[in-house]
Amino acid sequence: MVFDQQLLHSLIRAIPNWPEPGVTFRDITPLFQSPKGTEMIINTLAERYRERDITHIGALDARGFLVGSPLACKLGLPLVIFRKPGKLPYDVIREEYALEYGSAALEVHTDALKKGDRLLLADDLIATGGTLCAAAKLCRRLGAEPVEATAIIDLPALGGSKRLDSEGIPSFSLCSY
Ligand code: AMP
Repeated sequence: MVFDQQLLHSLIRAIPNWPEPGVTFRDITPLFQSPKGTEMIINTLAERYRERDITHIGALDARGFLVGSPLACKLGLPLVIFRKPGKLPYDVIREEYALEYGSAALEVHTDALKKGDRLLLADDLIATGGTLCAAAKLCRRLGAEPVEATAIIDLPALGGSKRLDSEGIPSFSLCSY
């Protein structure tokens, strides 16, 4: 199935002033309620990353799991999950970061990655890039290389993709607002 930008836009709902005034929340629940839309985005990403010498897919809590998990399965690669604090049961390392709204932290299991691993990091959306940068730092602390970051949506005005680029991580998004 060819990538249909119009179909993708039709499946992303804008919620003004949520979760706080001034933020337009890009709601991807209609996309994942559409098997056709979901298949289209996962196939498009799988095509892009199939021959890229990637060893792992890293998925970011929580909506990044919706992208990373089917992609890892399709590419036959191991999935590494980056979670909000207190969710992972084994030994973890943690990175604090700032969000478009509020602040947060991410954790990963210390045995999830090792030197030489090459990750594609997946999330639903790039805003300031803080979340993906935190995941990239966790990868590097474990000796792994975040080779690219991918998202369904980029908000270029918030500078996240540029910030990732300046940290040595190219990014690729399926659409932008
Ligand atoms: P950031 O770290 O600033 O790039 O923020 C990205 C994370 O926050 C992603 O995991 C998104 O799920 C969430 N996020 C930030 N801004 C929005 C938005 N306008 N609409 C939907 N999700 C958002």
